[in-house]
Amino acid sequence: MAKIIRAQRARKPTVRSAPKKSAKKPAAKPPARAAKKSLKAPKPRTPKPQTPKPQTPKPWTPAEVREAFERFRKANPEPKGELEHLNPFTLLVAVVLSAQATDAGVNKATRALFAVADTPQKMLALGEEKLRDYIRTIGLYRTKARNVIALSEKLIADFGSEVPRTRAEIESLPGAGRKTANVVLNMAYGEYTLAVDTHVFRVANRTGLAPGKTPLEVELGLEKAIPAEFMLHAHHWLILHGRYTCLARKPRCEVCLINDLCRWPEKTV
Ligand code: SF4
Repeated sequence: MAKIIRAQRARKPTVRSAPKKSAKKPAAKPPARAAKKSLKAPKPRTPKPQTPKPQTPKPWTPAEVREAFERFRKANPEPKGELEHLNPFTLLVAVVLSAQATDAGVNKATRALFAVADTPQKMLALGEEKLRDYIRTIGLYRTKARNVIALSEKLIADFGSEVPRTRAEIESLPGAGRKTANVVLNMAYGEYTLAVDTHVFRVANRTGLAPGKTPLEVELGLEKAIPAEFMLHAHHWLILHGRYTCLARKPRCEVCLINDLCRWPEKTV
């Protein structure tokens, strides 16, 4: 019996001591990124190249616009258009023919044409084929001949053979757009309209007088800026200025009447 008791005592399991809790928690590892950051030296910042902003020219003051047109008037009190014509009908035809052509080129062809056909009836009697022969030196002459015959027919049918006096009616004629209507209304009927051709468009934008992305935008800008007393001739003053002074490739800034008022940054004076 004593043996058994001794044996049991001997087999008494030893109680393992629980792992000692450490008093201090291990320090949390810093996030990998933070560690990286602290290792690298901060890069010196190189400033981004600045793209220069396009400069918007200072708008003209009403006094400056008046000054410019007074100078134009003094230099040329009665400016004339250079398209030769005999009456509103021949003016209309000449303007339709002048699209993408020079006035000189159109005049060369129309001198002989208008001697035989200066009314819608005579133009119709001449016929498209013969009309083509008169104007074949002008670009797009086939389309233009077709349009001139068609507009002559429409004038006879709808307008009593007269060139109408409203922009909408003129624009309804074959081959005639807003520019044609403005020229005819201004030159034939003395309306204060302003046709924007390539010269007027360039001058208005370069000078900053009426900047615009489209001819219509320029036209409306000019109408707003130019005092009424100059509107009858404004179209011709601006065309002639663009044609003979403010040339597309090499503007003659040194002899320009308005060079002190012009806002073009590339002007040569
Ligand atoms: S100064 Fe030069 S760019 Fe300006 S309107 Fe005159 S010709 Fe044209």
